[in-house]
Amino acid sequence: MPIATVNPATGETLKTFDALGPEETERRLAAAAAAFRTYRTTPFAERARLMERAAALLDEDRDDVARTVTTEMGKPLAAARAEAAKCAKAMRWYAARAEDLLADERPPEDEVRDAGAAHARVHYRPLGVILAVMPWNFPLWQVVRFAAPALMAGNVGLLKHASNVPQTALYLEDLFRRAGFPEGCFQTLLVGSGDVETILRDPRVAAATLTGSEGAGRAVAAVAGDEVKKTVLELGGSDPYVVMPSADLDRAVATAVTARVQNNGQSCIAAKRFIVHTDVYDAFTERFTERMAALTVGDPMAEGTDVGPLATERGRADLEELVDDAVRRGATALCGGRRPGAPPELTRGWYYEPTVLTGITPAMRIHREEAFGPVAALYRADGLDEALDLANDSPFGLSSNVWTRDEDEQRRFVRDLEAGGVYFNGMTASHPALPFGGVKRSGYGRELSGHGIREFCNVTTVWHG
Ligand code: NAP
Repeated sequence: MPIATVNPATGETLKTFDALGPEETERRLAAAAAAFRTYRTTPFAERARLMERAAALLDEDRDDVARTVTTEMGKPLAAARAEAAKCAKAMRWYAARAEDLLADERPPEDEVRDAGAAHARVHYRPLGVILAVMPWNFPLWQVVRFAAPALMAGNVGLLKHASNVPQTALYLEDLFRRAGFPEGCFQTLLVGSGDVETILRDPRVAAATLTGSEGAGRAVAAVAGDEVKKTVLELGGSDPYVVMPSADLDRAVATAVTARVQNNGQSCIAAKRFIVHTDVYDAFTERFTERMAALTVGDPMAEGTDVGPLATERGRADLEELVDDAVRRGATALCGGRRPGAPPELTRGWYYEPTVLTGITPAMRIHREEAFGPVAALYRADGLDEALDLANDSPFGLSSNVWTRDEDEQRRFVRDLEAGGVYFNGMTASHPALPFGGVKRSGYGRELSGHGIREFCNVTTVWHG
């Protein structure tokens, strides 16, 4: 993929970038390693001061950087502004809490004595240079979700961002530099995915985190495994959205629409499979389809747009193939199922109509694959057991959403859903205080909260005889 800004609303190439050559990549690797040698001992208070400054600058830049994000990947402008604000919040969250989250742990006295020690403690030390391979869908948030805890822990970062968001990637490097982080602490590498292996194999790189597709995760984890380097993988998802008879149906329907079309449908934690109890299936389907069909598809820069274009031409083609496959095998599109035919400005960009599919069977690709766009797959379930079986019948296990007010049912879902999160009577959303990540093909490791900041630490046992 060329490294370029291509406006998905028009298909126009606005700016192209040359990939870094080997010499420049080497210079940046050396700068990262040199930065780590001194930055690792910086006091928490100093790191927090720099992180607070980065948050303040991001707040000041919010409107401008939001326009860059929308231009590069097509999310509605208001959503891009909200993403920037969320990043500043996460920076402040880690600035305020990193020292406590990484405080030494002291095992109980009797266990210390049993281990033959006069004193013992667990100390969290930074690992080193961390390579972050990131996707375009939340081009600020995915990076900050890694960078804020990593930098607060005393690590340094190298960012290989998706090739279609180079200006956002360069903005992030500039942001951390302007905030005062020492040279080399956070650098963007404008390189293609083919260069990742060489960088990851470099002995100066300690570990890697990747957010993206299953294929990219597998490729990076294979190299990291070969080098015995730690990885965190945040991969795809096909989250279930289960609606049981006790649900508040009005709220369940309204939230279902947002949960499916947020970020133009291109969110790993978007609800993608809607599993509705037979008692409320008809009512849910009618209202949900009505609302999906009424969404405003249009220019993501315009106020009032609900759904902008898909980020890449390839992404739209993949989505179309998934829907066409389902329809060919007997699914019905209750709404959408095609590109908008008019007006002319919508036919230029990579738009796709919000779509609701019913009659899904396991023979259809969409039953097992991720629909990365505004396409909902609807299922009818006869009872709780069938709802659970359908929810778990997926290679993915990122998060899940369940609408029920019945406490016994809630306990069953918490016990039996194969997912990294179970959100009741609402939709999955990340927050700095809550761990984020999946099981199965959705990856491993956790971001955010105390779990996230400890992923890239050397958990060191200190023992005194
Ligand atoms: P992608 O194609 O996997 O790209 C993600 C990143 O990986 C990009 O920087 C890409 O670089 C790089 N990459 C791709 N193939 C690679 C390889 N073989 N070796 C090394 N690096 C490689 O994913 P995407 O289409 O941009 O993003 C959509 C996917 O990400 C969806 O599956 C979505 O669910 C997932 N996602 C997951 C989470 C989560 O937290 N679990 C969050 C957001 C998105 P290039 O751009 O240069 O190809």
